[in-house]
Amino acid sequence: MGLPVVLMPGPMHPAVAAGLVGHCELIRLWEESDPDAVLASRRDEIVAVATGGSLIDGAFLDRLPAVRIVASFGVGYDRIDAAAAAERGVVVTNTPGVLDDEVADTALGLLLMTVRELPQAERYLRAGKWQEDGAYPLTKATMHGRRMGILGLGRIGQAIADRVAPFGISIAYHNRRRKDVGYRYYPSLLDMARDVDTLMIVIPGGDSTRHLVNAEVLAALGPDGIVINVARGSVVDEQALVDALRDGTILAAGLDVFEHEPKVHPDLLTLPNAVLLPHVGSATIPTRNAMANLVVENLTNWFAYNAPLTPVPESTPLTT
Ligand code: NDP
Repeated sequence: MGLPVVLMPGPMHPAVAAGLVGHCELIRLWEESDPDAVLASRRDEIVAVATGGSLIDGAFLDRLPAVRIVASFGVGYDRIDAAAAAERGVVVTNTPGVLDDEVADTALGLLLMTVRELPQAERYLRAGKWQEDGAYPLTKATMHGRRMGILGLGRIGQAIADRVAPFGISIAYHNRRRKDVGYRYYPSLLDMARDVDTLMIVIPGGDSTRHLVNAEVLAALGPDGIVINVARGSVVDEQALVDALRDGTILAAGLDVFEHEPKVHPDLLTLPNAVLLPHVGSATIPTRNAMANLVVENLTNWFAYNAPLTPVPESTPLTT
């Protein structure tokens, strides 16, 4: 029997292809001159897909009836219709856990940058204004005494909570389900927003969470309100956020993710109270290597034992 055939629809971290050498035949679809012809001619052979952000929906899977696993790079899999995959008997895997600390570090950095206006202060120094105009203005906000509401107390949310607790920041959270933790739980996001001044967003993207953070939630945070988003841009109504930052409904925002990234809302680029990062939450060489290795291990464990390591919840009933 030949090696299993794996489809890579778009470019991925190079360690994925390197780790799969000897385990499978890899089709790099984006390098093919006629991708549709390749999909048609190999449709009964391609048993696995390795993806780093390509759209994988039911229609795509219907073109590849032999596929049994979609191994995705990253913990968020909002570009994959996992329910459609489950209906077709296809397991979806992601790369949870190995990036929690990295993303939490980014979130904490973004929080500090936003609260203490550190990027703005650095730009002030580089522009020569320290010498010309004197000290950078005192920041309105401080880390101390802040009240944080975590929208999505999962793996990364917990790692963020662990990091902010030593600052003396109080922690509450909103999930769909209460967890067995010591933080205050809010069944309603709006109620939590009314009681906190710092909203840390770390829930999955996708249709079920689209624009959960809207004008009403931002207004509830109030004029000292700070929004940090390290989740997905789709979770926040970006136009409502722009309006809230511009008219002082909230104080500031720190964003690692955007609704139409890599395009960023033009008004965000000019607002002085927005700190913007180009989706670098997990973007270090060691962490991205660990994520790539987990993609490889999911596939090789599936090839060898039909048991991928980290199936997403929608796929779990199929594998247990
Ligand atoms: P987890 O699945 O561990 O945690 C997600 C949490 O969100 C759970 O506690 C879940 O609780 C809660 N949640 C899910 N849906 C809803 C909802 N509709 N309303 C309220 N709460 C909800 O995920 P991770 O912590 O591993 O990752 C979180 C997200 O972070 C990823 O999905 C990804 O999009 C993003 N991310 C961003 C990165 C970046 O580079 N900026 C890097 C890595 C991840 P419950 O089920 O009880 O609702």
